[in-house]
Amino acid sequence: KLDNHPSGRHFLHIPGPSPAPARVLRAISFQTIDHRGPEFGQLGLKLLADMQKIFKTKHPVIIYPSSGTGAWEAALVNTLSAGDHVLMYETGQFATLWQKLADRLGIKTEFLGKPGAEGWRYGVDAAMIEERLKADTSHQIKAVCVVHNETSTGVTSNIAAVRKAIDAAKHPALLMVDTISGLASADYRHDEWGVDVTVSGSQKGLMLPPGLGFNALSPKALEANKTAKLPKAFWAWDEILESNKTGYWPTTPSTNLLYGLHEALDMILTEGLDNVFARHQRLAKACRAAVEAWGLEVQCKDPAVYSPVLTGVVTPEGVDADKLRKLIHERYNLSLGTGLGKVKGKMFRVGHLGDCNELALLGALSGCEMGMKAFGIKLKGSGVVAAQDLLL
Ligand code: PLP
Repeated sequence: KLDNHPSGRHFLHIPGPSPAPARVLRAISFQTIDHRGPEFGQLGLKLLADMQKIFKTKHPVIIYPSSGTGAWEAALVNTLSAGDHVLMYETGQFATLWQKLADRLGIKTEFLGKPGAEGWRYGVDAAMIEERLKADTSHQIKAVCVVHNETSTGVTSNIAAVRKAIDAAKHPALLMVDTISGLASADYRHDEWGVDVTVSGSQKGLMLPPGLGFNALSPKALEANKTAKLPKAFWAWDEILESNKTGYWPTTPSTNLLYGLHEALDMILTEGLDNVFARHQRLAKACRAAVEAWGLEVQCKDPAVYSPVLTGVVTPEGVDADKLRKLIHERYNLSLGTGLGKVKGKMFRVGHLGDCNELALLGALSGCEMGMKAFGIKLKGSGVVAAQDLLL
């Protein structure tokens, strides 16, 4: 609606979709080319090779024209059969949605986790997974599925520890990991951590609009694919891998989003993945310093697994976090993430991922601080000043 279009720039600080940089948007606007023509294969091969660098893998990466949910489904239908038993871990709303999706596919899910809303304040407890797998002496459990960066809470679980737990139990289950909101923002190592299928999406650390989904594979996942019986056609890896050998896809790819991906990968790899991770850690630390200065609590209770991607801010007792978010959006043109599922109305989320820097974060924190004051919340001190001091 142009008649009430707010002036100035919109502060998009939900934890994805993250703001797409102008360079990426310009690249997306190039003319669509023939996806079976001579130039396309070169682009496809370059993207597939560069995505291996992002996942830190030597094995194939699949790119789907889909949101993250499609890539979740693809991981399961390509490796499992109806009735297979799968162990999942409840870190928050996204782990819960993945479990529901698996149930709908006819997979038998078992959901581990700490009880209640309090359980959503911690990462995956690898010891619980180890204990459960040790008890499964007949190896009924075919896969362990965990969320790396739980976007609903701001908790980044230790995937290396989950790998160790599976190995310590000498269990053959596949390890599947959702890093839809972690990839290219939080340290991630597909091969080193022995992950069999990693699931991701375009609209978070990769700084693209929504619309691309990813599966990174392992040789063990490809082996499981040969006997997996869940129905699949569009999501089937085999035909895609065959076409990808020459940089093409069996169906029409999202050509223009792939232009954007090419540009985003150039930005990320030029900055250097380690520098990208360090920038995210620094901004996250400043955001947490602001929350502390306000006298509020961060949703994540374990400092070892604070997310570099987003920070969950618990609002004081009696404050409806969604009413607060509405006020902030209306007054300051700032979008914050809503509380989801068990924490609805009890917290808001500040995204500091992708194309984010000091002043972008400080702008968002200013909006939060002014909004909380306008809402009548008594703050202990200035979070903006605390974050500034940390970012000097
Ligand atoms: N998993 C995580 C961790 C997410 O953050 C999201 C989306 O925010 C999803 C899965 C679902 O992805 P999509 O909404 O792109 O289908």
